[in-house]
Amino acid sequence: MERVGIIGAGTMGRGIAYVALTHGAEVVLYDVVEEALERARAQIEGWLQEALAKGRLAEAEARNALERLRLSDRLEALAAVEVVIEAAPEDLNLKQEVFRRLDDLCAPTAILASNTSSLSITALGAATRRPERVAGMHFFNPAPVMRLVEVVRGLATSEETVRALVDLARRWGKTPVVAKDTPGFIVNRVARPFYLEALRLVGEGVADPSTVDRIMRTLGFRMGPFELMDLIGLDVNLAVSESVYRAFFEEPRFRPHPLQRQMVQAGRLGRKTGKGWYDYEGSPA
Ligand code: NAD
Repeated sequence: MERVGIIGAGTMGRGIAYVALTHGAEVVLYDVVEEALERARAQIEGWLQEALAKGRLAEAEARNALERLRLSDRLEALAAVEVVIEAAPEDLNLKQEVFRRLDDLCAPTAILASNTSSLSITALGAATRRPERVAGMHFFNPAPVMRLVEVVRGLATSEETVRALVDLARRWGKTPVVAKDTPGFIVNRVARPFYLEALRLVGEGVADPSTVDRIMRTLGFRMGPFELMDLIGLDVNLAVSESVYRAFFEEPRFRPHPLQRQMVQAGRLGRKTGKGWYDYEGSPA
């Protein structure tokens, strides 16, 4: 059984915790906001109930999974874990500080992984004395459903660490792909123009968001760019856009769109606030 620590009980942290718990891991879920921890527990319970109702889990399995979950607002609770998966906000300084503290706290053999969508794994590793044991483990939203996981190799990440995370992803029923430490890795690099061109179309008044989404779905995409931004969170999407733009030395083709910032300024963050490009009032996710 793995002992896993998860940093951040938001959209991604709670989803990753659910995946780990339903594959036998012992999980310590840490967040600085107590309310986020309580909401995460409620959501995990909801997912377990759903799996139970659909016959995907036995009652004892669901009960055991919940018993293996510990919530904490103290980082020290992660001292004995073997693997940490960090899913705190997309902010390099914040993440580096977390990695610095984890490095002091965790056993030297522990692997410190980040779920970052775009930040440099090499820079996170450099904040520790164990850069060979620091890597990316990038899940997709919703983590319980999406199979792909990018395992990101930083400049100093060892082969052993990459292999351990690839094996872990497979044990958790995921499909890992190893990616280089380049801004946005593979998926978020490809996704940048998907969002940006759609935002430009809307900004220029060529089409409205629901038309763009409908057309993309007609073409066979599961979701259009605006629906996807609402699912991801417009704040998270903006942070990733800015991070990729900066990391490519302000390469114009990655320049974020002013509409992204305006939506965040308005507090329209998508499903999680009940309003984004679409209105979810009455059915917030
Ligand atoms: P979120 O805003 O839903 O959750 C972030 C959580 O981190 C919140 O609960 C917040 O209270 C907590 N937090 C804030 N400061 C903290 C600190 N110092 N230590 C610990 N926790 C802290 O964000 P999210 O969507 O879950 O994204 C988290 C990470 O996952 C980001 O790096 C993001 O780029 C990445 N990611 C997001 C998605 C997505 O679709 N949302 C997909 C893949 C990867």
